[in-house]
Amino acid sequence: MIKKILVANRGEIAVRIVRACKELGIKSVAIYTDADRNALHVKKADEAYNIGSDPVLGYLNAHNIVNLAVASGCDALHPGYGFLSENPVLAEVCGRRGVKFIGPTPAVIRQMGDKIQARQAMIKAGIPVVPGSDHNLENAEEARVLAGKIGYPVMLKATNGGGGRGIRRCDSEADLLKNYERVVSEASKAFGKPEVFLEKCVVNPKHIEVQVIGDGHGGCIHLFERDCSIQRRNQKLIEIAPSPQLTEAQREYIGKLAVKAARAVKYVNAGTVEFLLDSDNQFYFMEMNTRLQVEHCITEQITGIDIVQEQIRIADGLPLQYRQEDIRHRGFAMEFRINAEDPRNSFLPSFGRITRYYAPGGPGVRIDAAMYSGYVIPPYYDSMVAKLIVWNLGWEAVIERGKRALDDMVVYGVKTTMPYYKEILGNPEFRGGRFNTGFVDAHPELLEYAVRRPPEHTAAAISAAIAAHLGI
Ligand code: ADP
Ligand code: ADP
Ligand code: MG
Repeated sequence: MIKKILVANRGEIAVRIVRACKELGIKSVAIYTDADRNALHVKKADEAYNIGSDPVLGYLNAHNIVNLAVASGCDALHPGYGFLSENPVLAEVCGRRGVKFIGPTPAVIRQMGDKIQARQAMIKAGIPVVPGSDHNLENAEEARVLAGKIGYPVMLKATNGGGGRGIRRCDSEADLLKNYERVVSEASKAFGKPEVFLEKCVVNPKHIEVQVIGDGHGGCIHLFERDCSIQRRNQKLIEIAPSPQLTEAQREYIGKLAVKAARAVKYVNAGTVEFLLDSDNQFYFMEMNTRLQVEHCITEQITGIDIVQEQIRIADGLPLQYRQEDIRHRGFAMEFRINAEDPRNSFLPSFGRITRYYAPGGPGVRIDAAMYSGYVIPPYYDSMVAKLIVWNLGWEAVIERGKRALDDMVVYGVKTTMPYYKEILGNPEFRGGRFNTGFVDAHPELLEYAVRRPPEHTAAAISAAIAAHLGI
């Protein structure tokens, strides 16, 4: 049995994994860079080790991290998301050093991390994919010829991309030629690999993804879908489970399709199959993420299954505890990615000290956070400092709960995306359950909200006015 896990990550996801370990009676080991000395995951884990002064490279050195896992007596390692989570080398080094990697095999990570190979595997398995290239593009001229065949608009994408980066929509030949070198250079910088490919651009699709889990014993199930259509610049902002935009028949279809996709690559552990749903109700495979996802929590809220604990059990060689027919979904869950960014100023990062933080609470509210009062957000990492997750029985009810919880949660010292989310929750189309990936761009007015004082500000302003009046 796994007794001690090295958590090869930081921030809220590292805290999330430590919590799963505690409930399973497993010891946890955190790693941190100098910049993260005061980070929450360091305080929560049973042990914590400094892995160097470079704020980013420390979390990216697979050999160092696995050495530390061995030296500290860990028998398993959880990669979280981002950093090395989709780097097959980490999984390989773990394998060689006798540390159980909590995730799929290196071969599957490699295959699915390459979007061209992933598309090929899916085509072979009979899964519909977005029409596009079957190999990496050689040059801009090849892109031009292929785009002419596919028809504009097209998406130029980094073959090894992730996190919404290295993707550009091209509406014309001129656009494509202008963007080609840009995407190649973005891909080289962000992913260390210059390869790019083309896909037909599905105009204003819905992003529907399915959580799957496979064990090493032939078991493979899905935990229903998430609707991640509320995005900005291909990055998710609000996620919902299940999608309020699917019929029961569509839900059943896409769940089965995702399991078929996972089985086709003999998938083991938790993963996500991402699809686009076009306006003709056609689903297309987009990519598979071979790791835990940021938004896994909403699936946990509607199914009651702890996905991280399930990942650990599977890595330990145990079979799935559930059959497909055991999995039920109840109500709706919604996740808000609370980013330290100023939505009124082009979402510029807003780093610095969180002078005060009041966590939200009450029925159906879950907060997975990396922040606390007094925490200084370092400038080197992702700007997501917390995830607010709400659950309720009905669609309208979950929206009201989201609004209430966002009002309940107060962060001073840095700007966050919270006020923007309140505006989205008030939008009639969103409330009507009709939205696609074009929603944010289609509603610039939601970013022009008036300055609203939180109630305690108002109270403080009134007290100050009274004090001034009384001359005290
Ligand atoms: P999810 O797919 O779980 O919804 P994201 O795509 O937003 O989440 O990615 C989660 C985190 O991992 C983000 O911090 C993102 O920047 C990072 N990330 C994801 N894929 C990559 C990648 N291939 N290379 C570098 N960072 C990545
Ligand atoms: P990443 O690996 O960065 O998550 P994805 O391939 O999952 O990249 O795409 C991220 C987002 O970009 C999608 O959720 C979707 O909004 C948009 N997108 C990607 N491919 C297409 C496409 N062919 N047509 C329309 N939108 C797309
Ligand atoms: Mg994706």
